[in-house]
Amino acid sequence: MYGFTPVHVDLSTTFCNLVHMSSSPASASPSRSPARSGAVLAGVPVVPGVRYAPVIRPGRTPVTAESAVAHAAPGIGESERAAEAERFTSAAAVVAERLRGRAAHASGAAAEVLAATAQLAQDRAWLGAAEKRIKDGTPAVRATVEAVDQFVDMFTKMGGLMAERVTDLRDIRDRVVAELSGLPEPGVPVPDEPSVLCAEDLAPADTAGLDPALIVGLATTLGGPTSHTAIIARQLGIPCVVAVPGLDEVEAGAMVLLDGTHGTVEVTPEPAGAAAAVEAAERAAAAAATWTGPGATADGHPVAVLANVQDGAAARAAADTPAEGVGLFRTELCFLNRETEPGVDEQAAIYAEVLEAFPGKKVVIRTLDAGSDKPLRFVGHPEEANPALGVRGVRISWGNPGLLDRQLEAIAVAAERVGARPWVMAPMIATPGEARDFGDRARARGLTPGVMIEVPAAALLADRILEHVEFVSIGTNDLAQYTMAADRMSAELAMLTDPWQPAVLSLVGLTARAGAAAGKPVGVCGEAAADPLLACVLVGLGVTSLSSAAAAVSGVGARLASATLADCRHAAEAVLDAASASEARSAALAVLGD
Ligand code: PEP
Ligand code: MG
Repeated sequence: MYGFTPVHVDLSTTFCNLVHMSSSPASASPSRSPARSGAVLAGVPVVPGVRYAPVIRPGRTPVTAESAVAHAAPGIGESERAAEAERFTSAAAVVAERLRGRAAHASGAAAEVLAATAQLAQDRAWLGAAEKRIKDGTPAVRATVEAVDQFVDMFTKMGGLMAERVTDLRDIRDRVVAELSGLPEPGVPVPDEPSVLCAEDLAPADTAGLDPALIVGLATTLGGPTSHTAIIARQLGIPCVVAVPGLDEVEAGAMVLLDGTHGTVEVTPEPAGAAAAVEAAERAAAAAATWTGPGATADGHPVAVLANVQDGAAARAAADTPAEGVGLFRTELCFLNRETEPGVDEQAAIYAEVLEAFPGKKVVIRTLDAGSDKPLRFVGHPEEANPALGVRGVRISWGNPGLLDRQLEAIAVAAERVGARPWVMAPMIATPGEARDFGDRARARGLTPGVMIEVPAAALLADRILEHVEFVSIGTNDLAQYTMAADRMSAELAMLTDPWQPAVLSLVGLTARAGAAAGKPVGVCGEAAADPLLACVLVGLGVTSLSSAAAAVSGVGARLASATLADCRHAAEAVLDAASASEARSAALAVLGD
């Protein structure tokens, strides 16, 4: 147990927390009235695609520690103890086996998280502690809870990496207690038929572990379109709608028509109409599937269509799509579970994997965007009342310039090793001075520097920023957050963080014009670039490359290939005249068609 160090610990623990908080099957809340037939619930579209399937919901946490202790029988007689111990051992084995089975169906980080959790379920230390209690007459459920509590206390006191095991242990506890109590497993169940998973919220490891053949649609009551959970859902290519008020009232088993393109969930729709909607969407998807690139408008205006990746595995998967390169490599996602700063050689090996996936192609590596919703322990973030407005992104290098220099060094080493010429960019740049400093550091290592435009101040001064760097890339997720003064993680504010907000698009246009004047590329690597219709508008605004999750690449490329540059420009003008995000979307549809 003590050497247990799974990857993506934060993701898995967040996942557990969220599933437990959000687990709310219909049976758990008797006062809930089911959503009425034909009701169309509107949310925020995240991953395009239309699906008609029954709803499943995450299993409810069967019992909390307190209620288990309170409700368990006081003790068991001597003659029953051996059987009770046996019942416990097999429950833990079943839990471990299920997790291993899920690991076998997952890949990458998700598989590692699940395998590590399975290993924890079979860990001798806590199993032994529970067995000892059962031998002393404690019923299995209570013994499970008490044994886990013992280790939770110990790990909490030890702090650091061990303290992070606490949520994993509690997750195991809940699974074993559910098994002992004959209740469904908490967390996301594996359905018998293709289903739409509806939940209050789902965390990154949760969505990462899903089997897209069985979970064919995803809808959440909470979550924003640019939360990192939504980003991973997009990477899996599962049609998804988030921030759907009223979704909690949709019962498990109800048929729904989920439209990830328009952001709706229709409850028990008329079956023939639903089937027709699915067919139409499949025709559009088929058109996307035949698109092979390179990115260009119908009249041949080139626009590089690139992929966003977070590690070598994702880069290799992206290389199987028509993506022409990598427009955003989120390096911080490689190190979320790290206690100490990875050395230059270790970093270089990771970066080299991504470069090797796209030999001779454009690869843009972003330096650590730590802080806010992606804290890195080795960075030593200060306590902040408002971390989204705090020391995140390039700002972490102010107090620790060595961190940035060592990362640039590692990128240079990787580039040398692979024979590549990667571009590097800094996140959260707010001033031309920051761009100059970053540009100097990157050039000193022979790298091509650029910066992200995510802060309105940077968009407003893009012309002066471009005096110091060779390119910019617009992060529409944060640009929307900071322009609209609306937390990108907030479901309540999701309508404000919609990248179709005309104010956000106006800043995109301003930045693109600065790029054109300087003769330097202006990309978009925020989630806006994953929306095929919006992608056309971005090109009309003057954007020169689009980078999105690999799953969105073909849809974006195919849509762009169906519109001329003049159409895109016309749509961009119409969008800038709109007064709201929905008006902007309708204006673009009127020009470019559905
Ligand atoms: C963005 O803000 O749009 C972006 C691409 O960066 P991230 O989503 O990683 O914050
Ligand atoms: Mg950002």
